[in-house]
Amino acid sequence: MTKADIKSWNRKELEEFIVDRGEKPFRARQIYAWLHQRQAASFQEMTDISKDLKEQLAKSCELTVLRQERRQISTIDGTRKYLFALADGAMIESVLMRYKHGNSVCISSQAGCRMGCRFCASTLDGLVRNLTPAEMLDQIYRISSDIGERISNVVVMGTGEPLDNYENLLKFLELLTDQWGLHISQRNVTVSTCGIVPRIRELAEKKLQITLALSLHAPNQQKRLELMPVANKYELHEVMEACWYYFEQTGRRVTFEYALAGGVNDRESDARELAELLGGLNCHVNLIPVNPIRERKFQQPNGNVIQKFKNKLEKYGINVTIRREMGRDIDGACGQLRRRYTSGGGE
Ligand code: SAH
Repeated sequence: MTKADIKSWNRKELEEFIVDRGEKPFRARQIYAWLHQRQAASFQEMTDISKDLKEQLAKSCELTVLRQERRQISTIDGTRKYLFALADGAMIESVLMRYKHGNSVCISSQAGCRMGCRFCASTLDGLVRNLTPAEMLDQIYRISSDIGERISNVVVMGTGEPLDNYENLLKFLELLTDQWGLHISQRNVTVSTCGIVPRIRELAEKKLQITLALSLHAPNQQKRLELMPVANKYELHEVMEACWYYFEQTGRRVTFEYALAGGVNDRESDARELAELLGGLNCHVNLIPVNPIRERKFQQPNGNVIQKFKNKLEKYGINVTIRREMGRDIDGACGQLRRRYTSGGGE
C-alpha cells in the first residue's frame, strides 16, 4: 500500500484523516503546525502527540523531508545553492538569496523540464517527474532550518515549468501562504512561466495576489521560436493577451524576463520592438545577461550593450532593471549543479 503524502495535505484533509482515526480535530492542528510551522523532520519530534498516534502516522503516512546532498555558499554575497535528493533519488536544486529586505528562496517545481528552451541547462536531459506540493515546500523548510532564519520571499524560478505541474503548484501556493503554515504573503511569491497560455488564464481567474513572471526573451514571434520551442504551441500575441488578462483579473503588475544574449536579441532595434510589444501594459522588465552553458554557444553582451538596451527601453517609458548576479563565485547557470550530479554533464 502506498503511504499518504501527509505534508501535501491542507488542514481540512489532515483533519479528516485524523478524525477518521477517532482523534479530536485539534490534534490535526497540532500536527499541521509541526509540519508547516516548526518544519519537523520526523514524527518522533512531535512531543505533544501521543506515541500511539505517532506510530499510526508513521505506518500510514510518508513524511517528505529532502536530503541535502551538496551546499555551496558564496563568499561574495552569502547566496547558497543547495542540491537536494528526493526519496526516489531524483535530484533538484534550490537557491537562497539574502537581501536587505529579507531572505528569498528560489525553488524547483519539477525534476528536469520538458520545455526545451535553447539557453537553459535544466531542460537538457528532459523531464524526470513533477514535484509534489510537499517537495516544493520542503525546499523552503530545509533552507530555513539550515540558516535558522525566516524566509520572506519565494520565487518559483528554479528547474521546471510550474504551469506544467499546475495542480501541485496550486496546492503548494495554498499551503505556503496559509496562515497556519509558513504564512508567506501572496505578494511575496513569484511564479515564472515560459508561457503556457491556458494555464496563465486559469491562474488569473484564481485572483491570487502573486506576481506572474513571463519568460519572454525575444521581441517577436520569429525570434522567440528560435529560442523557445513552446512558441510553436502558443504564439507571442496569445502570450501577450494572456498577460494583459492576468493584469486585468488580479491588478498585479506582470514581470517580463529577458535574457540578453550577444548578437541574438540585444540590438537597439530589439529594444524598440520590445517596447512596442509591451506598450501600455503595467509591467516591469528584468534584463538578465544570459548565463552561458557549455552545451550552447550563447554569450553575455558586454556591459555597454546591456546599458544601451536598458536606456532604450526607458526612453519608451518601460520600467526596467538589470538583474544583479547573485553568487557569481559558486556556480554557472541555473540547473548546472544538478546536472553535474545526475548526468556527468559538468566538470
Ligand atoms: N520554466 C519557468 C521557470 C524556470 S526558468 C520559466 O521558463 O520561466 C527561470 C528563468 O531563468 C526563466 O526566465 C528562464 O528563461 C531563465 N533562464 C534559464 N536559463 C537561463 C540562462 N542560461 N541564462 C539566463 N536566464 C536563463
